[in-house]
Amino acid sequence: MPTKRSIYLDYAASTPTDPQVVEAMLPYFTDIYGNASGAHAQARASAQAIDDARHSVAAVLGCDPEEIVFTACGTEADNLAIRGVAWAKKQLGEGNHLITTPIEHHAVSHTFNQLCERFGFEQTIVPVDSHGVVDPHAIAAAIRPETTLISVMYANNEVGSVQPIADIGALARSRGIAFHTDAVQAAGYESLSVNSLNVDLLAISGHKIYAPKGIGILYVRRGTNLLPTLTGGGHEMNRRPGTENVPYIVGIAKALELVERKRDTENLRQRELRDKLIDGVLNNIPGSQVTGHPTRRLPNSASFVFSGCEADPILMHLDLAGIQAASGSACTTGNPEPSHVLTAMGIPHELGLSALRLSVGRQTREADIDAVLEILPDVIEKVRQLNPTYQMMS
Ligand code: PLP
Repeated sequence: MPTKRSIYLDYAASTPTDPQVVEAMLPYFTDIYGNASGAHAQARASAQAIDDARHSVAAVLGCDPEEIVFTACGTEADNLAIRGVAWAKKQLGEGNHLITTPIEHHAVSHTFNQLCERFGFEQTIVPVDSHGVVDPHAIAAAIRPETTLISVMYANNEVGSVQPIADIGALARSRGIAFHTDAVQAAGYESLSVNSLNVDLLAISGHKIYAPKGIGILYVRRGTNLLPTLTGGGHEMNRRPGTENVPYIVGIAKALELVERKRDTENLRQRELRDKLIDGVLNNIPGSQVTGHPTRRLPNSASFVFSGCEADPILMHLDLAGIQAASGSACTTGNPEPSHVLTAMGIPHELGLSALRLSVGRQTREADIDAVLEILPDVIEKVRQLNPTYQMMS
């Protein structure tokens, strides 16, 4: 149960559902519940809601509604993009070589690994620099005649670094290679204009943009060969079978419309809070370091490492003080190894174990940042005092 004080700084892991989103969804649980494939008034009302949602999402992405596929989550959108294109192109005899980076979410990296370990694909994992950014020239150098797909995440979930997506997309297009980006963290903060970004496939997750968990979107550029990864009915224009989850589809479309409308003002506001947090930590905690790119990072993302600490006790002390934070990505919390992202950025093993991610969001206020800046220096000190190795070194 939350303690008296509750400061939520884990928006990168999940966001609360916007009440306006809940309101938009509610009729589709109880009043309009028809299966959208049917041939009666209830079914038509559901089909209309899906159609409206598809148009609304397409307006944000600057694409045709037919290029939008609703999925059950961001992970599924990534899987469908990668497996779908890799298989389709292999079947057409275009090749079996894939390119990605070492900092991708497991929804991407584990999919690549399985394709390579079990299904005869090959991958080149292009390194990132110490800020967690990949160089498009290095991607260009990795391209082979049999390369069919490049996948580079838009913004990293652990350190917030934003990748040069439009440049990589232009490169991929000039070489006739499909380009996928996992935009799960970038959505709501960065432009999702698929034409400016030169992407062929782009994945979004509902619960990072104030919609519920368990709904996602995949943009698929017209003409992209995609073998469906689920088999069943002809839903989503034969790309993703399964009776449509109408309330959640309505919800994610509403959420995307709202984050897009608030994007400029929220980016400014959240960036100010985030910068105050970063400056406060660096100025008040000796041995602290920001991870990720100093400027080209998501406006809500602050991530640190601290010498002489491990993340778990930091998180525990913060939690006891009512501050909810994360170490690395939500999916790897509890793993005693440093995250694959920090390792790829060349952060030493011991330091990587201390990773702390504080991600602000819509409900974050300046008083929350002040409270964290008051509590965190003592927490780090306490954790260091309990670390015998740190005691010997200091
Ligand atoms: N990609 C990134 C970058 C993420 O941060 C996440 C969630 O943490 C996902 C994909 C997976 O999205 P979902 O939780 O909707 O499956």
